[in-house]
Formats: sequence, structure tokens, C-alpha cells
Amino acid sequence: MDPFKNALSFLDDISSYLSPADKPYLARLKNPNHVHKDILQVSMDDGSKKDFPAFRSQHNNALGPYKGGIRFHPGVTEAEIKALSLWMSLKCSIAGLPYGGSKGGVIVDPKKLSKSELESLSRAYARFLAPHIGEHVDVPAPDVNTNPQIMAYLLDEYEKVIGHHAPGAFTGKPLILGGSMGRDKATGYGGVLALKFLIEKLKSKHSGGSQTAPLHKAPSSDTPTWYMKPISQITVAVQGFGNVGYFFAKIASEQGFRVVAVSDSKGATYLETGLDPVATMECKRQKGSLAGCYCKGGVCDLKGGTMMSNEDLLQLPVDILVPSALENVITKDNTSKIKASVIVEMANGPITSEADHLLTSKNVLIIPDIYANSGGVSVSYFEWVQNLMGYYWTEEEVDEKLEALMKTSFNKMFKRSEEGTISLRKAAYLVAVERIIEAERMRRPL
Ligand code: NAD
Repeated sequence: MDPFKNALSFLDDISSYLSPADKPYLARLKNPNHVHKDILQVSMDDGSKKDFPAFRSQHNNALGPYKGGIRFHPGVTEAEIKALSLWMSLKCSIAGLPYGGSKGGVIVDPKKLSKSELESLSRAYARFLAPHIGEHVDVPAPDVNTNPQIMAYLLDEYEKVIGHHAPGAFTGKPLILGGSMGRDKATGYGGVLALKFLIEKLKSKHSGGSQTAPLHKAPSSDTPTWYMKPISQITVAVQGFGNVGYFFAKIASEQGFRVVAVSDSKGATYLETGLDPVATMECKRQKGSLAGCYCKGGVCDLKGGTMMSNEDLLQLPVDILVPSALENVITKDNTSKIKASVIVEMANGPITSEADHLLTSKNVLIIPDIYANSGGVSVSYFEWVQNLMGYYWTEEEVDEKLEALMKTSFNKMFKRSEEGTISLRKAAYLVAVERIIEAERMRRPL
């Protein structure tokens, strides 16, 4: 399915819940304000030149400067970047940030580039971006296959173009260049906070005897409802073991959840009694992939764990499924096989709109991407604030601010969901869209 059309169908799903006065403004969100594109020419190590198509979609900036990551991936398309930029507008809005939404991408397999080719590509991308970005215009950050080192190349090249320092023009930078403490783990940490807030809420409602029917499966006498189990018995499977998936698995495991499976693009590893995500990452680093790595308590043993495909991981009988890789991994074709009670969407757009309807009708509780993975952009916002004031916070201060921000937006989303007896996704979209519409109405009333 076309990723942008898929993203628009989520917007269509909330149209009927908007007030008549708000409805006309929804049309403004159906197209990005700008889509910049170019072909980047890069000199390769063998002396040849190679072309790489590049994009930057700036969706909406009613609330503040555009904000969004940069993806280097062979599967990048213009439609995907437009969809991701729309989700960024909604994500920044539900998080209460003074930002609009954008996203950038280059069609490239960075694993096939040498270090110097990757640097040249990053610098070429910064020159393409330069006229369209800035601390108060559009602030890029890392996404799939981009990291603090690439942010450093981008910042350095951008500052050459504009002729002065501007650390707030990019976030997700290395600490030495103005990065924020806590940014590397922020998205995963925010996702675990989201899950904990949900458990707290459901437990308190359960003990208060109230029914929140469409939000979760009704408790049955023989099988304990997932959220009533001791935390060490709540099982978690994480698809994607990059920045987001790794930190989610690590922090969830530290907080006592039982992380039984993790995967990367080459396959998954499963251990019913629970994996050690830190040792498993170490094993992946040493071997180059997760396949064959099973680690517990710092001991890696090739025989203990079960290897499985990414598709098998999605179908595991776990309580919590955490897609943390790419879009469209849960579609109408595999929803019937999903056994998890809860899906925490740490990737952007991992569930298609058709699959979302099917899962919701089966009472699978979905913590939607625009809220679940908003920890990353929230700490990017803290990084930008620190850059603009030139004064830096400790990791504890950053974590505390992140928790407060995520709690506030969780409560807004949950309340809206209960008031309207609607899914958390619809509630999150409504909170986000109404905030953007409020800003649009002040700026450009219809
Ligand atoms: P990353 O490049 O660090 O990691 C991606 C991981 O996914 C890698 O482990 C890769 O092997 C794995 N992967 C790729 N294809 C896969 C497949 N078909 N099946 C299973 N695993 C596969 O990227 P990231 O920054 O962790 O981003 C992951 C997702 O989270 C993306 O959807 C991104 O948009 C979203 N996200 C990222 C951030 C952030 O701060 N980095 C913030 C919000 C949302």
C-alpha cells in the first residue's frame, strides 16, 4: 500500500469525530507544505560518481519549526517520506512541543558504502538541505541508519554553508557538539514509560471495578489479564534491534519485564526464560547479526536460544509485541496470526490502517506510534532548547523532564480515549490534530 495514502486513511478515521468548525482545517494536513528533492552526486572510492535521490518533506509548521529525522535506506520513497513527515507533525503536537513535522531521506544502502563515501553522501545531503533548514526553520535528527556521527557531518557541512555555528540546527548530535544527555536511549525509554503508564492506568481501573470495554480484553477467571501479572511474567518480543529496539529491550528488561525475543533484518532470536539484551547486543556486534546469538547474564551460547524469522517473532504468544524496525510489518495478511494482547508501536507506521481496524476489533490494545515513540523527538526538543540557551542539563534532569512530558500526553490521550470510547490511536490523533488546528486557526483562519 502507498505509505502516504495509508497515513491519510488514519486521518480520515478521525474526521467524523471533529467538530464541524474543525473539519475544513483537516484538509490542510492532507498534503505537506513543501517536498524538496534532488539527486545527490557522490564521488566513490574507485573514482566513479554515483547518483542518490534525496528528499525532505516539510509537512506543517503551524506550531513551530519543522522537526524530523533523516533516513538512509534503499527502500526510501517520496511517499514514505511524506507519510513520515505527517506523523512527525502529529507526534510533535501530541507531545506538546513547539514544532511542526518534517522528514528526510536518501535512497541508499549505507551498508554498501565505505566510511568516506558515507561521509561524502552526508555532506552532499547537508548542502541540499541548507537553504531549507535552520534552528528556527527545520531541525533534522537521526532516523533509520543515521546516527550521531552522521549528524556531526551534517552539522559541520551546514555550518560551512551558513558561516557560523548553529548547533540547534540538528539534534541527535554527539555530546561534544552539543548533543543532549539521554538522547541515545530516549525513544526506547519513552516507549517503556508509555507501557508502564498504561499498566498503571489499567490496574487502577481494574481495582476500581470499572469497565473500559474497548480498551482491553475483559478479565477472565482462569487466565490472569496481562497487566495483572507480576512484571517478571509479562513477556515482550521486540522486532528491530537498532537504536529504538535495543534501548526498549534493555530498559524493559532492567525494569523487570521478560524480553523473550529480539530481531534484526536477518532474523530473530528467542528464549522463553528471557534474554539479556545487553549481552545479546554484544554478541550481535561480534558476529555481525543476531542470528545464532542467544545470551543470558553475559554468557552467549549458540545452543540455548531458538532462531526464527521476523515473521515468526510477530506471531509469538507474548503479552507485548514491540515492532521497532520499519513500516507496514503488520498488515491485513498477518493480523489473524498476532497473539499479543498489546502492541507498542515503536517504529513509525508498523501497522497498516486495514490491520489497525482488524486488530482493534479483536481488542488488541495498540499504543500508537505518534505517542509511543515520541520520547525521541521530546529529548531532541530538550537538546535544541539547551543549544539555544547554551546551558546543559544532566541525564537525570533530562530523564525527569521526559517522564513528565510523556505522562502529560499519555493522560490526555487516555482521557480522550475513555471519553469517546475510542481506540488510543484515534484519541492520540484527535489530541494532536486539534492542537495543530488551533494554531492554524490563529494564523490563517478559514
Ligand atoms: P536503526 O537503523 O537504528 O535500527 C533499525 C533496526 O531494524 C536494525 O536492527 C535493523 O536490522 C532492523 N530491521 C530492518 N529491517 C528489518 C526487518 N525487515 N525486520 C526486522 N528488523 C529489521 O533505526 P532506529 O532509529 O532504531 O529506527 C527504527 C524505527 O523507529 C523506525 O521506524 C524509525 O522511524 C522509528 N523511530 C526512531 C526514532 C529515533 O530516535 N531513532 C524516533 C522515533 C521513531
